[in-house]
Amino acid sequence: MRKKLVVGNWKMNGSRAMVVELLTDLKARAPWPSDVAICPPMAYLGQVQAELTGSSIAWGAQDVSAHNGQGAYTGEVSATMLTDLGATYAIVGHSERRTYHAENDQLVAAKAKAALAQGVVPIVCVGETRAEREAGHTDAVVQRQLAAAIRSMGARIGEVVVAYEPVWAIGTGLTATPEQAQAVHARLRQQLLAATPAAAQMRILYGGSVKADNASQLFAQPDIDGGLIGGAALKADDFDAICRA
Ligand code: PGA
Repeated sequence: MRKKLVVGNWKMNGSRAMVVELLTDLKARAPWPSDVAICPPMAYLGQVQAELTGSSIAWGAQDVSAHNGQGAYTGEVSATMLTDLGATYAIVGHSERRTYHAENDQLVAAKAKAALAQGVVPIVCVGETRAEREAGHTDAVVQRQLAAAIRSMGARIGEVVVAYEPVWAIGTGLTATPEQAQAVHARLRQQLLAATPAAAQMRILYGGSVKADNASQLFAQPDIDGGLIGGAALKADDFDAICRA
């Protein structure tokens, strides 16, 4: 039985005051039946660590460098540093990184590998655009994206979290139906099973306009093991309801 995981991806939102306010509220509502984690902007990760240490809420980063340790990589944050901060997760390959920062499958795979090497669990995002879905290429796209991570990590792919996030559903209010999402999740799990039997225990999250009112239907699907939550992670009531779904 896979325990569900709900991850709040704050994206480029927040302030020091908001971190205190939202996390104080969430800590008062914890724990939930699901595992729960928060991925704030890097600037607030230290503050989030201070707020959440000793609570049941985990934390992580929204991205990580493909380079480990220390070095001359301006603007980068290594998995070594995330480990130092007690982070559990690092999101890699979010479609906003792929689109606005030209990250390709190889770079995403390298970031996932670097995270895992330092004991940070990568949340590897895959997802098709609307045009790709309409052209009937959904499976080809997400399987190509996942294959790059499998090639780079081998059987250790069993240690990552996968997130299926159809690009057309992110921040748009359009959600994949539970059946559409389940179909993709089942095929992703088949692909993972071909690489490692541990795939049966792996968590495959759905992301893309998950809200309090659609989370339970999505999470009831057999291969949907929780969610990666954007907009609804910024409001305590909404995020709390999703963590209970
Ligand atoms: P959304 O974002 O919930 O605002 O659609 C999800 C994500 O991008 O992770």
